Amino acid sequence: MFTTNYFTARADFCAEAERGGARLSCHPIAGRGPNGEELFIDSASLGHTHPGTLLLLTTGVHGAEAPAGSALLRLWLMEFATRMPKDMGALLVHALNPWGFAHGRRTNENNVDLNRNAVSTFPGPVNPEYARIHRWLNPALPPDDGEAFWPGALWHRLRLGTTVLRQAIAAGQYEFPRGLFYGGDRQQESLEILKRLLNDERFAAVEQVLHLDIHTGLGHRGEYAMLVAEPSTTSLFARLARCFGAARVVSNAPSGFTHYAARGTIAAVTARALPHARVQACTLEVGTYSAVHVLRALRAENRLYHYGCRDANRAARLRAAFGETFCPADPAWRKILLEHGQTVFRQLPAALV
Ligand SMILES: [Zn+2]
Repeated sequence: MFTTNYFTARADFCAEAERGGARLSCHPIAGRGPNGEELFIDSASLGHTHPGTLLLLTTGVHGAEAPAGSALLRLWLMEFATRMPKDMGALLVHALNPWGFAHGRRTNENNVDLNRNAVSTFPGPVNPEYARIHRWLNPALPPDDGEAFWPGALWHRLRLGTTVLRQAIAAGQYEFPRGLFYGGDRQQESLEILKRLLNDERFAAVEQVLHLDIHTGLGHRGEYAMLVAEPSTTSLFARLARCFGAARVVSNAPSGFTHYAARGTIAAVTARALPHARVQACTLEVGTYSAVHVLRALRAENRLYHYGCRDANRAARLRAAFGETFCPADPAWRKILLEHGQTVFRQLPAALV
């Protein structure tokens, strides 16, 4: 079920979608694979041809998280596609960041975090604290050239507190093109493609969308959460909590967020492409390693990518550790990911009534 190879994952997804009678479409992107191969965002459309209600499943916005998302899309195709209500449509998007998947990076070929790129104007909002942590977070040196993680981490945590520091790191930034969580200086091709997919005349009558975007790396290992951009006081939040379980649904709205509130997340594309529809956006996050482990892996891999590493063995180890951070090889983790997927997919139709 799992493959960390983009080309195998893509072939498996397309084969499974065709078996299920889906309408497949393949969208080439400008970026190339490690050996110059063409790369594609693939989508599968199922169910009613002109639905009023649409289930949108997106995966691989962060390339390194795509192996898990790809496995879950195939699970949905195998076990849930035939159980869809007759009047509903589904659109599955495989590897929104195919370059990141093929190269084992979180970002795309422009170092852009696509889940910070959907802002309405560029540059995106200023993140003043990021400028103060930038030199610690993104040392302009290879990963074997010092610049230890812990002294800066402890200093900035003492200075800002954990909540503010977490928000400064992960909210998104538009000033440092080689930095982590960079949202870009223009809308990226992947987002244009998603918008085009949603602007299809088949979706002209859509009144309601549930957009589930699948990620890994946030939260406790093997646990999952449904992040919603709704304050926890609204009736919509209460309804989602009833559908998915109160313990699972957490708010990442700017007021009262639990992890951090990100700017320019991918769901904004859906809302803009279907302005007459009611869009409920949820991010499924499945935990892998601790937040500190994830941040250290991100920091080391980003340095490796931009500044190289003299020790080839160390470089290979860092790349492998990065892949492991977002899709652990442990069979128990992979089994529980699929179990969580089954639970959430079973609950989805109720969230759409
Ligand atoms: Zn992610």
